[in-house]
Amino acid sequence: MVRRSEPPFNGCRYVGDRRKRLVHDLDREARGVRGCRIPDIVLPDVVTFEPDTLREAYRRGFDFCPSCIGEE
Ligand SMILES: [Zn+2]
Repeated sequence: MVRRSEPPFNGCRYVGDRRKRLVHDLDREARGVRGCRIPDIVLPDVVTFEPDTLREAYRRGFDFCPSCIGEE
């Protein structure tokens, strides 16, 4: 699967949803209505991380998406 290269994703692996406080791993994105629903995140709620790591997302208070990350 190719990551989204366009803004605001810019090829980042980890993308957060500011409203749901969830972080997604786009390399393991779950498609479909029960999946990550990345296209449903409104642009102002899209968060990327610097550095682009799960640790940084966790540090900033994001929970892990159960569909693509789970309890890792
Ligand atoms: Zn997800």
